[in-house]
Amino acid sequence: GSERSSIGDEDPIVPLPQSNDHRWNDTSAYARKKVLQSWVQLPNGNWELGKILKTSGEESVLALPEGKVLKVKSDTLVPANPDILDGVDDLMQLSYLNEPAVLYNLEYRYNQDMIYTKAGPVLVAVNPFKEVPLYGNRNIEAYRKRSNDSPHVYAIADTAIREMIRDEVNQSIIISGESGAGKTETAKIAMQYLAALGGGSGIEYEILKTNPILEAFGNAKTLRNDNSSRFGKLIEIHFSETGKISGAKIQTFLLEKSRVVQCAEGERSYHIFYQLCAGASPTLKEKLSLTSAKEYKYLKQSNCYSINGIDDAERFHAVKEALDIVHVSKEDQESVFAMLAAVLWLGNVSFAIIDNENHVEPEPDESLETVAKLIGCNINDLKLALSKRNMRVNNDTIVQKLTLSQAIDARDALAKSIYASLFDWLVEQINKSLAVGKRRTGRSISILDIYGFESFDRNSFEQFCINYANERLQQHFNRHLFKLEQEEYIQDGIDWTRVDFEDNQDCLSLFEKKPLGLLSLLDEESTFPNGTDLTLANKLKEHLNDNSCFRGDRGKAFTVAHYAGEVTYETTGFLEKNRDLLHSDSIQLLSSCSCYLPQAFASSMLIHSEKPVVGPLHKAGGADSQRLSVATKFKGQLFQLMQRLGNTTPHFIRCIKPNNVQSPGLYEQGLVLQQLRCCGVLEVVRISRSGFPTRMSHHKFSRRYGFLLLENIAAKDPLSVSVAILHQFNILPEMYQVGYTKLFFRTGQIGVLEDTRNRTL
Ligand code: ADP
Ligand code: MG
Repeated sequence: GSERSSIGDEDPIVPLPQSNDHRWNDTSAYARKKVLQSWVQLPNGNWELGKILKTSGEESVLALPEGKVLKVKSDTLVPANPDILDGVDDLMQLSYLNEPAVLYNLEYRYNQDMIYTKAGPVLVAVNPFKEVPLYGNRNIEAYRKRSNDSPHVYAIADTAIREMIRDEVNQSIIISGESGAGKTETAKIAMQYLAALGGGSGIEYEILKTNPILEAFGNAKTLRNDNSSRFGKLIEIHFSETGKISGAKIQTFLLEKSRVVQCAEGERSYHIFYQLCAGASPTLKEKLSLTSAKEYKYLKQSNCYSINGIDDAERFHAVKEALDIVHVSKEDQESVFAMLAAVLWLGNVSFAIIDNENHVEPEPDESLETVAKLIGCNINDLKLALSKRNMRVNNDTIVQKLTLSQAIDARDALAKSIYASLFDWLVEQINKSLAVGKRRTGRSISILDIYGFESFDRNSFEQFCINYANERLQQHFNRHLFKLEQEEYIQDGIDWTRVDFEDNQDCLSLFEKKPLGLLSLLDEESTFPNGTDLTLANKLKEHLNDNSCFRGDRGKAFTVAHYAGEVTYETTGFLEKNRDLLHSDSIQLLSSCSCYLPQAFASSMLIHSEKPVVGPLHKAGGADSQRLSVATKFKGQLFQLMQRLGNTTPHFIRCIKPNNVQSPGLYEQGLVLQQLRCCGVLEVVRISRSGFPTRMSHHKFSRRYGFLLLENIAAKDPLSVSVAILHQFNILPEMYQVGYTKLFFRTGQIGVLEDTRNRTL
């Protein structure tokens, strides 16, 4: 029917008023007697609630707040919900589920610090950017006892525990949202609840302490968020049969390595660098030849050293304490700090031109010496790795000297690789400490904190990967909702075939199809020595142009139609980022390092370079066809993730950032609306709207509206009364279905009855 409108940019998702809706019928006596409200969109795009003063079919006159009066086309008005529905704690309770109604409801609650709202099965969390009195032991207790039933992360975590025990099925809590929306805080809040309920063994304390560690090494200040996670994370918390936490396992995704060597003005590199510089004891500083953050080029370039309200030195001590708790030995901690210092010093290595072909060699200064000392290698080997490249051409080996830009790339690649290996090694140590052990009989709850859909002015390889992941997660989300809906309809004997669902399979196929999909073509081009970002763009255009989700753009760009909107990607840097090469010479260098590196770290370094160090030399250019590309590795991780999630009962939390300035009390409609679209909340609404979202039992329906019946009917049972009401109000047959126990309505249908009831009472 006409109700199946989709969410477009301009058109509101609510259908135009229908003839059986008294509020829109100017011949209706009600409309003239009662003041009615409606949403009207102002030129700035914001929705405002107005009182309908007069309506003459085509045109309506509305009174807006502050005494303004507006004349508009009637068909641009979007119906407003009755006041009694203000601030309902589940959006599905709204009679009219349109965009302004959703926006208004969230804002209404937000202004009263009710930051959580349900959208059917999904929890929406609006970032308060201030402390709200919703957490802590007393609140945990209230949710545990179920004496508080307002929407909350605690309630989600509580349901997850109960369903895990009751159904003996693993659970997952999937948190998404854009940067700064509150995902990481939400994940921590969920972990706190699980720790409080499943605690006792002490391991829960260790689990909570992984947060400050991973945040120190994987989070950074960005323009969007002072504590932005630059990696995705899945933590699987295991429970024994008695519901006690027995261990945990962490998996991380796509750490943003480039931040180690490069970050934008006003942003910072990873917190740990500043913490180390600020908090290391004089003895440690001397040992690591460490000076202050301002002395290091990698930290200096963005011109930002501190974060408001954060004491880096204090944090450093907290991180060390947390490392103690997860059993990273003092000795290993020192090695970790030495590696961090090595990365910083590496950034200070400079180069001198040695011939008239622009070839360079590193300056033999303090930086170079310190790096060699810290990573425990021969200074000449380091020098070689930073100035020459061994290449195998046919069966001969040739030594190529590096130009300045090549040498800088080699240096930065080495720094990134050391840091990424360090990060992986840390996660591995944490996992060892949290390991469940042999008696792994129980169930688990996984919490996923992963970057949401991103669409910037310029989108690169990182957005490409992130959005691909979100496309996968969105499919998971859709299919779950679809299943939930389906189950309820079938249970109540409703004709299921009349409900449409859309899927994003086409877009996923665009990414994953072999051999002609985005990922395959990207990998293919990455293995060609002569491939460039331009040849990649041309190849994509050549093969994918007839895919409905793809559009080749001018130059090196292409556009993908994602579920959350179109994104244009610039292929600049795609191949290099996808190849993520570390030259064989550097790999060799690292594998030869000894003194400060724990054995496990060295091996994680080699795993990281993903290249067996078999002989002294590798293929031309240092590339190795055996090595996995970044995109392929990520795809593999993602498949594994989806497989794991597929075996769980999911619970979805969507985080919303109400403003871009990280400040409390500011709610920007446009910004919220765009996120509601991207994170699928409006999709939930749309999916529900394509079915019969309003449900009421025969009993409740007949009790609530039975007195409106004008004629006496013979049978007084709830079903007969309900049907009589439906007939009297002329509710069209396609607008409802009668189930075994409930009546199912399309959106807005109950509003008519509710209005009449209110006027009559
Ligand atoms: P994301 O992980 O989505 O990028 P974060 O979880 O890091 O975002 O949140 C960004 C900031 O927002 C936090 O540092 C904190 O200041 C604030 N914040 C988020 N959620 C809450 C909350 N529930 N209560 C108070 N402040 C919050
Ligand atoms: Mg985060």
